[in-house]
Amino acid sequence: MLGLGAAAVVLGGAVHGAFERNSPLFGRPITRLPGHDRAVALTFDDGPNPDATPAILDALAARGVKATFFILGRHAERWPDLVRRVADEGHALGNHGYFHRKLHFKSPAYVRTDLQLGTRAIEQAAKMRPRLFRAPHGFRSPWVTPIARSLGQRTVGWSLGVWDSDRPGVEAIARRTVEGARPGSILLLHDGDGYDDAGDRMQTARAVPLIVDRLLTQGYRFDPVGGL
Ligand SMILES: [Zn+2]
Repeated sequence: MLGLGAAAVVLGGAVHGAFERNSPLFGRPITRLPGHDRAVALTFDDGPNPDATPAILDALAARGVKATFFILGRHAERWPDLVRRVADEGHALGNHGYFHRKLHFKSPAYVRTDLQLGTRAIEQAAKMRPRLFRAPHGFRSPWVTPIARSLGQRTVGWSLGVWDSDRPGVEAIARRTVEGARPGSILLLHDGDGYDDAGDRMQTARAVPLIVDRLLTQGYRFDPVGGL
């Protein structure tokens, strides 16, 4: 029988596993690139978005840089051409679920449905199956990562987020990202708004050329998560 103290430890561990995106407790997510090269991964969540996603794709294409886009199913259904463009231009695609509800208190049935709908939206738009998954806000429970794995998707966290969705200004987004980048970092940015189809992510889009140019100057290269 568990004493109160042990129960508190177990509960504390469960809460930690749900709220700490990189916690290994509920299955270990990918939180950095393998190896020790001077490489980083640019990752974009919550898109596609009709304004920011094309601007980001243009900036990446002009610099020959490949990134990873964690696509929200509901936005993929609305803008399938943009999902196809992400895939056609050689970026990695990941599943970000369909509804963008936090998953840590949702039932296994809810999580499975959300991840399946997200997968299907990407498949229908891009004619390819995502091999990666990132939970909304990184919130997981004991069954989120196993359900993603059952769909053939590795769960991905991140090394550095810069709160670009708070719209702190183009230069702040660029500076925080460049200053925080380390070899192997998985950098989290947002090309869409998980709660608003028309949410403004143009600050992030305008920061992308600055981030890429500054990190290239520092000798970094850009790898998609999980290779291609
Ligand atoms: Zn999100």
